[in-house]
Amino acid sequence: DLVNKLGDWVADRTSRWSKELQSTVLAVEYGGMNDCLYNLYQLTGNPRHAEAAHQFDEISLFEAIWEGKDILKGKHANTMIPKFIGALNRYLTLGESEVFYREAAEKFWDMVVYHHSYITGGNSESEHFGEPDLLDARRSDITCETCNSYNMLKLTRELFKLTQDVKYADFYETTYINAILSSQNPDTGMTMYFQPMATGYFKVYSSPFEHFWCCTGTGMESFTKLNDSLYFHSGDRLYVNQFISSTLDWAEQQVKITQSSDLPFSDTVQLSFELTDTCKKERRLSVRIRIPYWTAGEPTISLNGANIQPEVRDGYAIIDRLWKDGDSLHIRIPMKAGYSSLPDAPNVVGFRYGPVVLSAGLGQDDWVESKTGVNVSIPTRRMLIKDFVIPQGMSVQEWFAGFDRHFIQKDGELSFVLRNTDADNRLVFTPHFKQHSERYGIYWRFVEADSNSLHEHLEKSQQEQLIREATIDGIQIGNDQYELQHQVKGEWTHAGTWEGLNGRRAEPGGWFSYELKVDPEAKNGLSVTFSYGSRAGSIEIWVDGKMLATESIPLERKRAFYDKMFEIPAEMTAGKAAVEVKFSPIQNLNGIYGMLRSVKL
Ligand SMILES: [Zn+2]
Repeated sequence: DLVNKLGDWVADRTSRWSKELQSTVLAVEYGGMNDCLYNLYQLTGNPRHAEAAHQFDEISLFEAIWEGKDILKGKHANTMIPKFIGALNRYLTLGESEVFYREAAEKFWDMVVYHHSYITGGNSESEHFGEPDLLDARRSDITCETCNSYNMLKLTRELFKLTQDVKYADFYETTYINAILSSQNPDTGMTMYFQPMATGYFKVYSSPFEHFWCCTGTGMESFTKLNDSLYFHSGDRLYVNQFISSTLDWAEQQVKITQSSDLPFSDTVQLSFELTDTCKKERRLSVRIRIPYWTAGEPTISLNGANIQPEVRDGYAIIDRLWKDGDSLHIRIPMKAGYSSLPDAPNVVGFRYGPVVLSAGLGQDDWVESKTGVNVSIPTRRMLIKDFVIPQGMSVQEWFAGFDRHFIQKDGELSFVLRNTDADNRLVFTPHFKQHSERYGIYWRFVEADSNSLHEHLEKSQQEQLIREATIDGIQIGNDQYELQHQVKGEWTHAGTWEGLNGRRAEPGGWFSYELKVDPEAKNGLSVTFSYGSRAGSIEIWVDGKMLATESIPLERKRAFYDKMFEIPAEMTAGKAAVEVKFSPIQNLNGIYGMLRSVKL
């Protein structure tokens, strides 16, 4: 009753929306409103609840993705994923007439998984999608928000139910092990926000009273459903999708199936069958065992001790027979180490053993947490971390051609070392989901000794380090969380995405401002990103009510951005921990984009 009335209230409000107001709402992080309103409509059958759900369907976005246009760059990832969970729910709720929404959700899944995801199944940098296939360039300490993986699994589960396509079960396994299991501290139960894909950082967890993030909420939920999506059934058909010790109590078929598995520490899985209806001697079931993409050779399957060769179709071994009480299936899936690279950097690789991502521990030096966004803790990077590997006596290509000889398992342990590199004695790779106490590296750049790429890489990481060290405070312009944290104010102003960068603009006569930390002891600078203009214009920049500078926007037809650094005079920051920085456009609509930073000069 309560939820019903809440639904009425939402329907009242959303039915009065103008087109402009609707697009303003759809531009912020509104989560799964369409999804939950379709769920409500399933319960109430009240057409007003369906209409309210439609108001949260972002049709122009769905159309672009359905047409195969990857317009995800600059979009807040964990707002996008629930929109498509909602689109799929529109199809599930209203039926075949809404097949467009199902197809949009399927295409979105392909786009995210094949063009925006890392080896762990995670996606995004600083909560946002980037350009498709640009993944190495965006590897940082704030990649792979854990909520995104939680939501991708939600979408994956529904798509598997509809299609029984094995690709969804494979992705589920990858993400479940390497992004979800990996995200919890086994000693405290606390979970992670960002999962660094850059090398040299460590896992940072929430805390019971100080750090309760979105990912803390979804994190708790994830660990209440570790038994979810292991099995699926339809009629007498059973899909064994995940290899995790569990008991399936299949009431409709009066069968109990017990799975024992210790993947990745052992490559065998045992399934025991128990008929719970003692009057029945046999039960016809079609049992489908997933043959995972990572299998290192033909799996072997035996039934009650005798080898069998079941039909393998669409990624499943199909065992269709009359099952008796006490039957047991024994499955061996050969495992070995492998690697995969990133689309924009063929020589940057992550290592796997079966489905399990491996990372190398890098010790605990300078273990300090810093803060970003709404009190989000992130790990600080260890200075001078060496994040590349140089093959010895051979080229990078030769090293990978002989991968099985160069990536060696230690006797009797699930750990691996390198051979014929400069890091043979330094790096030990172990399952990343168990790494909780050291800095780590999942991705490693392989470079030739004395090559240009080695020198370029050293120079680039030095520059990045300098920017990071110099930054006092930073705001992601146009992101409501970060803007609110920095006391955004303004008149005649709006946020949005332009050319793939988030930003904030104001009308002439309007303005917007933020509070930004400064260092009263240092010489401070303000780093701002502007957009070239097609019309003449300028923006005044004020610090605590005093004019700092007027930026004349260069008149150029090209759609591009440029960065500028303004020195803040010492008298403007003397004795202050923070200042109010205000932007007001003159003549024409104008704004700032990307990151606004205060830095030590
Ligand atoms: Zn989150």
